[in-house]
Amino acid sequence: DQLVIAIDGPSGSGKSSVSKAVARELGAAYLDTGAMYRAITYSVLADGTDLSDANAIAQAVRDAQLEISVDPDAELVEIGGVDVTAAIREPRISEQVSTVATNLDARAELVRRQQEIIKANLRIVAEGRDITTVVAPDADARILLTASEEARLRRRGLQLGGTQNDSQLANQVLARDAKDSTVVNFTQAADGVMTVDSSDLDFEQTIAAVLDAIST
Ligand code: C5P
Repeated sequence: DQLVIAIDGPSGSGKSSVSKAVARELGAAYLDTGAMYRAITYSVLADGTDLSDANAIAQAVRDAQLEISVDPDAELVEIGGVDVTAAIREPRISEQVSTVATNLDARAELVRRQQEIIKANLRIVAEGRDITTVVAPDADARILLTASEEARLRRRGLQLGGTQNDSQLANQVLARDAKDSTVVNFTQAADGVMTVDSSDLDFEQTIAAVLDAIST
């Protein structure tokens, strides 16, 4: 029987590192759907696609030759044969990614590809913003990982190595979540989705809480 674990949450919720650890624990594959939105953003920026042209963005997604590793221990994202694993984490990508994410045709195509990847794996943990609701609403376990605004800003700050001041951080994290939540709901758990609040939990405790939610 296939095992699918769906995890959603806002940025800075610790979703990626927690999902990866949970995948390792379960001997499962790991799909970072945010990396797919980021890779498309990298590609449209590199190609000089007009970001105000919704049809051009939708077409770019349909044409994209996108490869993503599902090994939780070997992150690799390629678009058009180019390794963009590191480049998609740059602030310029985070700043523009919502333009792709709020394009409904782009979403439809990426959701389709994500569902194909999920189908191809016997055990998989998939994380993003719409996995519990749109990509894998029939998953064996569906979890919304939340954290207070303060905790999320602190974590993102650490992740970026203290290179951003508080207002830059708040702008990046909160503005992006605000834009994203116009098309997907990841601020409240949908029916049947379990919430794990990591505000007062350390990394190990969060993993334990997620594993606990999965087994109940
Ligand atoms: O998770 P991460 O911060 O890497 O996601 C980057 C962006 O991709 C999000 O800000 C959002 O715009 C988009 N995204 C999405 N749906 C998902 C995953 C990510 O819209 N399932």
